[in-house]
Amino acid sequence: MSAGVNTGPRRIGVVGAGLVGLAVARRLAQTTGAEVTVFEKENEIAKHQSGHNSGVVHSGIYYKPGSLKATLCRRGVELIREFCAEHGLEYREIGKVIVARDEVEVTRLRDLQERAAGNGVPGVRRLGPEELRELEPHVRGRAALHSPTTAIVDYKAIARALVSDLTACGGRLLLDAPVTGIERGGERVAVTSRDVRHKFDRLVLCAGLQSDDVARLAGDDPGPAIVPFRGEYYRLVPERAHLVNGLVYPVPDPAYPFLGVHLTPRVDGSVDVGPNAVLALAREGYRRRDVHPGELLRTLTWPGTARLFRQHWRMGVHEYRGSLSKRAFTADARAYVPELVPADLTPAPAGVRAQAVDRDGSLVDDFRISTLGPVTAVRNAPSPAATSSLAIAEHVVDRLNLPRTSTRNSR
Ligand SMILES: Cc1cc2nc3c(=O)[nH]c(=O)nc-3n(C[C@H](O)[C@H](O)[C@H](O)COP(=O)(O)OP(=O)(O)OC[C@H]3O[C@@H](n4cnc5c(N)ncnc54)[C@H](O)[C@@H]3O)c2cc1C
Repeated sequence: MSAGVNTGPRRIGVVGAGLVGLAVARRLAQTTGAEVTVFEKENEIAKHQSGHNSGVVHSGIYYKPGSLKATLCRRGVELIREFCAEHGLEYREIGKVIVARDEVEVTRLRDLQERAAGNGVPGVRRLGPEELRELEPHVRGRAALHSPTTAIVDYKAIARALVSDLTACGGRLLLDAPVTGIERGGERVAVTSRDVRHKFDRLVLCAGLQSDDVARLAGDDPGPAIVPFRGEYYRLVPERAHLVNGLVYPVPDPAYPFLGVHLTPRVDGSVDVGPNAVLALAREGYRRRDVHPGELLRTLTWPGTARLFRQHWRMGVHEYRGSLSKRAFTADARAYVPELVPADLTPAPAGVRAQAVDRDGSLVDDFRISTLGPVTAVRNAPSPAATSSLAIAEHVVDRLNLPRTSTRNSR
């Protein structure tokens, strides 16, 4: 590329090789003609949220119409389906039921159906108990919503394919490359990693569980802060995997950002039960015993944390019971599949969610992205950000307002 032909930024950096960072980097490399470099602190891609999630392509039922989550989830479904088809990756539309157990939940189901319609989610319909039983013979409930297009994928495989596309366009992925310094100087920005300074015209931060810390390096506000919530899973023993055909979810509590323990078939044929949501004592604390005193102190001294706990302590106690007792965890799942007994569940790897919390204790519900001169920071990208990753990439790259040099493979 010659500077005379393309007057836009020539060098762009991306921090984080999760699905969001990789999707952004790939789109930049494919559509702007810039030299793109991704920094990842780990020695592999998708090591955190992008490689430790439920593997679901959400259809867009839950999100407030008009929100970024609603818009980018719907667009993300379209893009990820095409991406999987183009790259020969699994994309299985196994469908999902959201099951109501009592009158309160039946009312919430109505609200969800309206949201689904507002968001243009195709094929969503209400089921009575008998229709639910036809679809899922082992599941019980008063009523349900069926979303036939909800799908499952292998997000790690998707991340690998994103890297192939990126490198095919000349992009670079640097592993074992933690970003420890960011200096903004007018139109340009310098990134320090392993004592080397790299200069860029633009920088995009997609640091997941560290998104607040990395944004602060660039001079962004301390808030919202990331409060890490571990999501623990069990797996059904193989001989009980037949108990569900598709995804089985509870009706979420609208005051709460997590979806509740669900049954999730995986593309490898296993069925996961979970995740719950308990405060993680380290941002990458996948086990109960993982504690990072400095991170924990920062979580506890963030003004929003105490307010959050005051608002949600009842739910917190419930989730801790499920974390400490397999029987209590099984009871949550038995509310939907009464045949389940604790012996049907074996422990499976946990994930940690990066939940952004504002200073006043409110959970940041929507995706949040901020801009500081040449730096764009993805500050909140919780679920459904895996589903939405390719659409978030479109949105972020549009915000950068760069001249496009190519539409080749631009999806
Ligand atoms: C338990 C669980 C279940 C979920 N289920 C679903 C689901 O079914 N469907 C769905 O759509 N979404 C789901 N999500 C949400 C989804 O996984 C995340 O929203 C998405 O993966 C976020 O991607 P990301 O790239 O922003 O973050 P991450 O995948 O966490 O990537 C951030 C990367 O930045 C790197 N990094 C951080 N700091 C630095 C630094 N200083 N220098 C260099 N690199 C750095 C990290 O090492 C990491 O690799 C789930 C999440 C969890 C935890």
